[in-house]
Amino acid sequence: MSIKENLEAVRREIPEGCTLIAVSKTQPAAKIMEAYDGGQRVFGENRAQELARKSRELPGDIEWHMIGHLQTNKVKVIAPFVTLIHSIDSVRLLEEVNRQAARHDRTIACLLQVHIAEEQTKYGFLSEEIPALIADLNWGEFSNVQVKGLMGMATFTDDEQQVRREFQGLRALFDKVSKGPLPPQVVMQELSMGMSGDYKIAIEEGSTMVRIGTAIFGERQQT
Ligand SMILES: *Cc1c(COP(=O)(O)O)cnc(C)c1O
Repeated sequence: MSIKENLEAVRREIPEGCTLIAVSKTQPAAKIMEAYDGGQRVFGENRAQELARKSRELPGDIEWHMIGHLQTNKVKVIAPFVTLIHSIDSVRLLEEVNRQAARHDRTIACLLQVHIAEEQTKYGFLSEEIPALIADLNWGEFSNVQVKGLMGMATFTDDEQQVRREFQGLRALFDKVSKGPLPPQVVMQELSMGMSGDYKIAIEEGSTMVRIGTAIFGERQQT
């Protein structure tokens, strides 16, 4: 199947109100343009330099999302243009995003990444840390960021029940935080969860943004 056909097939599974992020990491510009010609305008990447390069080379009406672990020293590379950073996993990173956003006179939209998987390797805050973070941070100093919700990655496993439980846990946290009180820099609008292997479950559990790579572009080249 072509990229356009894959895109169509994925879109049929995604309800209105859920945003499809086409994850184009490692994919060459020609493949991204196939998806673009299929109407896709929102793309996600996990490396700052690659994201910056592609944003320069590809059409200006693309929305670029940062979905992978972001080192603080790389924030400046994407700060001028990035639409949404899904992967805020430390206060230090949020501070740097705020600082770089201010330099460009922008407000950068962010999601707080929550560690919901069993694997040790996945980044993110612990669920338990999130309410205190939102309650206690000195939000007055974060006037150039807008936290729009939460992001999480489920364990890479065939056990659907486990994946579902992890998404349900993130959804429950989202609902709890949504009840507030919330500072003006925080709104709970977006729940970014679901990848090629588990996005149908994520949608059933309330995802508003799915990040899908291989189901659209096929297997990635090793880098
Ligand atoms: C690569 C990646 C995805 C997409 O993974 P696929 O399995 O190819 O759909 C989604 N989210 C993050 C954070 C990623 O790094």
